[in-house]
Amino acid sequence: MKEKLRQFMYGRYGSDNLSRFILVLALIAIILFYIFKILILYYVGLVLLILNILRTMSRNHSARYRENEAYLRIRNGFTGFWKNLFSGKSSSGAADKTHRIYKCPSCGQKVRVPRGKGRIAITCPKCRTSFVKRT
Ligand SMILES: [Zn+2]
Repeated sequence: MKEKLRQFMYGRYGSDNLSRFILVLALIAIILFYIFKILILYYVGLVLLILNILRTMSRNHSARYRENEAYLRIRNGFTGFWKNLFSGKSSSGAADKTHRIYKCPSCGQKVRVPRGKGRIAITCPKCRTSFVKRT
């Protein structure tokens, strides 16, 4: 029996970041179904679960790998967007061409300094520690 299971699982794709994400979505949908009694949520959760099982059972590794990569790109795009939003920077990235970000070695505060000034002493605005960096 164990040998049969091993054979069955051989060459299967298994779980990845995307499958864990789908699993969480499925669980959220089913929990929401129990709370709000909206039947469509139950089906959404069920379809996601089946989709997830099919993905992990798949032997087409390159296709699953591409799906996972696409998911990670979208996720990184989102987290980048939120990070920019909270730090008050535009997502255009123009600020990064004229400035460099250094972390204060003492307190970890991020300090933005203009580029191309050579070696300069930076004073942390938070804890007043001075450190020298090339810009
Ligand atoms: Zn500091």
